[in-house]
Amino acid sequence: MLKDLFSKKKSYGTIKNINSDVKESQPNIPSGMWDKCENCNSIIYHEDLKQNNYVCNKCNHHFKLRAYDRIKMFLDEDSFQELYKELSTKNPLDFKDYEEKLDKAHKNTESSEAVVTGIGNLNGVKVAIGVMDSYFMMGSMGTVVGEKLTRLIEKATTDKLPLIIFTASGGARMQEGIFSLMQMAKVSAALAKHSDEGLLYITILTYPTTGGVTASFAMEGDIILSEPKALIGFAGRRVIENTIKQILPEDFQTAEFLLEKGFVDKIVERKDLRTCVYKILKIHGGKRYE
Ligand SMILES: [Zn+2]
Repeated sequence: MLKDLFSKKKSYGTIKNINSDVKESQPNIPSGMWDKCENCNSIIYHEDLKQNNYVCNKCNHHFKLRAYDRIKMFLDEDSFQELYKELSTKNPLDFKDYEEKLDKAHKNTESSEAVVTGIGNLNGVKVAIGVMDSYFMMGSMGTVVGEKLTRLIEKATTDKLPLIIFTASGGARMQEGIFSLMQMAKVSAALAKHSDEGLLYITILTYPTTGGVTASFAMEGDIILSEPKALIGFAGRRVIENTIKQILPEDFQTAEFLLEKGFVDKIVERKDLRTCVYKILKIHGGKRYE
C-alpha cells in the first residue's frame, strides 16, 4: 500500500552491527590514562595534564582540583598538617538521602567535608590554609565547612598567622537549610577578629565560586586573587535576567569581568600562584616572614 512507502523503517540491526565492529577494533586503553578538556574538547594524556598543574596545554583551561591535589601543588612538600579532620557532618533536618550523598562524596574525594583546613608552609612562610573541594557535594557550605573554617581563622588569629582560603562552591548546602546560611555570619565574625589583629587574609577564587560563599568569606579577603576564567557570582545568570528583565553581558560572572569592575585584584595562572602569593606575604609581613 501507498501508506507503507512513507512509514518509518527501523534498522536498529544494522546500527548495532556497526557499533559492535567499532567496539572490537578499539584498542584496550586502561581507564584514567586520558582526560578530555571540557573547554576545547582536546584529549590529553593524563600524566601530561598532571605535569602541567591540571591546565590544558591547548587552551589554558584550568581544570577543577580536588583539595588534596591543590594543597600538594601549592604548599612546600610535606609541610601540611591537617586540622579538624575529625569533625563530621550530621543530618540536622533529617533530609532524605543526605547521609548517602555524604558517604559518596567522601569516597570520591577522600575529604571528610567540602573544605580541608590546616597549617603549612609556602616557601618557608607559615600560613593557615583552607581549601574548598568542588568535588565534595559541589563544595557546598554546611555546618562543618563553617566550623572548620571558623576554627582555622581563630587559630590564625591566636598564632598571628596569615590566612589563605581557596574558594570553590556551589553555595550554601540546601540539606542543612538555615544552619548552613548561619555559617556566613559565623565565618565573617571570625574574619573580623583576624583583621582587627592586623593580620593578612588572601582569598583565591577558583571555578566555581558562587552563592553564600561569594556573599561572605570569598569576597572578604584583604587581597582577592582568582584563577583565569573562574565563574564567580551570587545568583545564577538566568535568575538575574528574569528578575531585572535584561540580557547580561557574555562575560558576566567571570573573573575577567570582576577584575574590570574592581571586585578581583589580580588574575593569576595556576603555575604562578605560589610565587605571587609568596610575594604578597613578603610585602605585607615585612621582616616577620623572612
Ligand atoms: Zn583545552
